Parts: sequence; structure tokens; C-alpha cells
Amino acid sequence: MNYNVNEKGYYGVFGGAFIPEMLYPNVEELRQKYLDVMAEPDFKKEFNQLLKDYVGRPSPLYFAKRLSKKYNTKIYLKREDLNHTGAHKINNTIGQILMAKRLGKTRIIAETGAGQHGVATATVCALMGLECIVYMGEIDIARQAPNVARMKMLGAKVVPALSGSRTLKDATNEAIRDWINNPVNTHYIIGSAIGPHPYPDMVTRFQSVISEEIKWQLKEQEGRENPDYVVACIGGGSNAAGTYYHFLHEPDVKIIAVEAAGLGVNSGESAATSVLGKEGIIHGCKTLLMQTSDGQITEPYSISAGLDYPGVGPMHAHLAKTGRAEFMAITDDEAMTAGLELCQLEGIIPAIESSHALAIFEQRTFKPEEIVVVSLSGRGDKDLDTYIKYFKL
Ligand SMILES: *Cc1c(COP(=O)(O)O)cnc(C)c1O
Repeated sequence: MNYNVNEKGYYGVFGGAFIPEMLYPNVEELRQKYLDVMAEPDFKKEFNQLLKDYVGRPSPLYFAKRLSKKYNTKIYLKREDLNHTGAHKINNTIGQILMAKRLGKTRIIAETGAGQHGVATATVCALMGLECIVYMGEIDIARQAPNVARMKMLGAKVVPALSGSRTLKDATNEAIRDWINNPVNTHYIIGSAIGPHPYPDMVTRFQSVISEEIKWQLKEQEGRENPDYVVACIGGGSNAAGTYYHFLHEPDVKIIAVEAAGLGVNSGESAATSVLGKEGIIHGCKTLLMQTSDGQITEPYSISAGLDYPGVGPMHAHLAKTGRAEFMAITDDEAMTAGLELCQLEGIIPAIESSHALAIFEQRTFKPEEIVVVSLSGRGDKDLDTYIKYFKL
């Protein structure tokens, strides 16, 4: 079984590029060039240098001793929370800004929901001196004021999306419209392992540095490259794709994907796509998608802004369908409890997205000698307000 993308841009039956004809030249240019650009020695050198000196990689692979003791297994945390800007998203935006430069683009657009991808994009545009326009739903702009301020400080222009539900989906539509109108000088930085081919594969490759590092770091600490399990939370699926990438075809490594169950999988307020989703098309790719019987996209819900996406990337849809990955759904309450536990056992305040991945240890037992690597995708600073309200701190 192949879990990577094939030449046609598919993972099994999922993926592809379902785009309006007017977008075809932009996406086709990227498709024809992305692998060659990424293979250039010059590109690799600049990417690796920036990951090291600017992002702060390699991120530590930390043996969480007290957490491991509590759950009677060996838990390692891949510390993406220690990256510049506080999460894994910067790995992808660094890669894509270098790609944009190699393609001769001078103007960058992005969509953002909670603002994390907008901040990561504004950051790399400042770094490279490129114009940056971030589309964001009007409702999200009001809800996420600190990230809007960050983007502005970094020199980005934040454009409100005023149509529809005025959230992420509408911001994405605005970004696509912009790209159609500016096909020559503009690159669209998508923030997760989603979108039309080649985006899911390109984003996965940029994020795959996570599993590349896990291999040698685990070898150093445990004498073997392969853990027994790799675990990550899934919104669109970029930190998960990066965490799994070098283990996809290692049969002795089991894969656990953690989705947000919100108030409960069957509550109607959830983002558990692998359980609730059906095949459909969103943002230019065929994947599992939460939708009504007549194909309308259902509004997802999770306490964590990064996980409330109505679909999953096509790679993860394929991993779910083939059974290569085990999917688990974690509620808001379970995630919040696990987040607080990490604070108190390890002195690390995790992003609420990452707390979902940590919550599996209450639900599932592992053997004492098993090694479980969890992607700690981001830090909790951005979530302080939510933690304060939830725990009445
Ligand atoms: C955005 C985000 C996620 C979800 O995005 P993926 O593409 O699924 O990784 C998870 N964790 C953090 C900290 C995030 O900022």
C-alpha cells in the first residue's frame, strides 16, 4: 500500500485538484515546479539554514518522565511548541516563502481562521520583504484581536471577508478570488495539508522535518529509530502529516490520529471528521468532509480554533479508510484536563490543539516498554484566555 501521493495527485481515492478553470494556470505552474525547486541544493541549503537559525530547529524530543510514570509507558514529546512563533506552522510558511521567491512571486496571500497561519505567513513575509495580504472572516477578526494585531505589527494587510458566515470558509473564497485576479505575481500560502494537489504533498514535505528529526533523536536516546506509536492532533492535518511522514511505510510504527470531538461526537457540536465525514470536495480536493445529506458543509465546532475544520487533508482520509491510522476523538473537557495535567506534571503549557493528542492516555493503555511519541504542535500562550475561562483561574 502506498500512503504517499501518486503521480496524479491522489492518496487512494482522495486528493486531486478540483479547481475553477481560471485557477488552473496558477496551480499547474506550482505542480510542474515544486519538486524540482525543492530538490535544488540551493533551496535545501536556505530552507535548512532558516529552520536552524530562525525557527530554532531541531526541536527537542523530550522524554516526559512524570507523565510517563503516571501512564506507565514511555512518552516522548516532540517540542514544536518551542519553534519561533510557537507552533509547527512556521516550518511550512518558511518552505512556501522560499518556493514563492524561486517562482519569481512578489506578493503573498493567505487565508486564516484563528489567525495562527496568518501570523506565521506575515512573519515570513517580513523576513523576506514581500507584500502580505491575509484574508480573515469578519467574525474571526473580532474574536482573534491579538493575532490581528500581530499580523499588522509584522506589516501584513488584514482584509475582512464580509460574505457568508464571515469565517474561515469565506476567507478562503476571498483568497482564491484574489489569486484568480493576480495569477502572475502572487503566491497563495495554504496553511495545512489541504487544498488542490500539489499543496497537501508540498506542505507535508515541508513539515516532514518533524519525523526526520524524531528518527535520529530517538536513535540517540533509545538506540532505535522507530517508536511503537506516533500520535498527533488533526485539524487539516499538517503537524500530523509531518509527524507520520517517515513512518508511513514502517509497519512496526502504529499511527494514532486525534480529532476534536467538541461537546461529543454525536452532539452536533464536533469536528470529528473521520467519524462524521463523507466523501466530498472542499478547498479543491476530494476528502472526508462533514456535510449534510444534500452536500452542504456542516459548521464544525471545537474549543480549539486550530481543530475546528470541517474536513481532513486527503492523506489522512486515506489513512482512515485503509486503517493505517487509528482515529480517536477527544472532547473539549478531556483535552482541557489533559492540558492542565501537562502543565502540572511537566511544566509545559500546551496549545489546546496539542492537548487533544495528550488526552489519549486516559482512554487507552500502552505497555510499559512501548515508546509513544506525541507531537506537541504548539504552546498555550495563545490559549490563555480560554484556559482562564474554562478553569476560572
Ligand atoms: C493550526 C494548529 C493545529 C492544526 O493544524 P494542522 O494542520 O492539523 O496541524 C494544531 N496545533 C496547533 C498548535 C496549531 O496552531
